[in-house]
Amino acid sequence: MEGRLARTEGDHLNAVYPFQKSPRCSATSKRSRKPCQAPAVKGWTVCRFHGARGGGPKGKRNGMYRHGLCTNEAIAERRLIRELLQRCSTAGIKLRFR
Ligand SMILES: [Zn+2]
Repeated sequence: MEGRLARTEGDHLNAVYPFQKSPRCSATSKRSRKPCQAPAVKGWTVCRFHGARGGGPKGKRNGMYRHGLCTNEAIAERRLIRELLQRCSTAGIKLRFR
């Protein structure tokens, strides 16, 4: 019975509803040190109280956008190039740039 209500006659106490099987928030309470246990937002590991879908607007919609050097895409591109160069140097391939 994956994600479906187990319909057994008169067994309402032991019935498992789909919302009970939904993924839970991975955050831990600062005060009680217990897990949040609220349902996580779809596509996130945390609930709406613990930072899901948060943050400022991306790219040019953000007021601090100047040149695009620090966008997630640019950072990922630099990371990829760096990894490629590191793999070349560990493999003993010498690259010459002019
Ligand atoms: Zn939470």
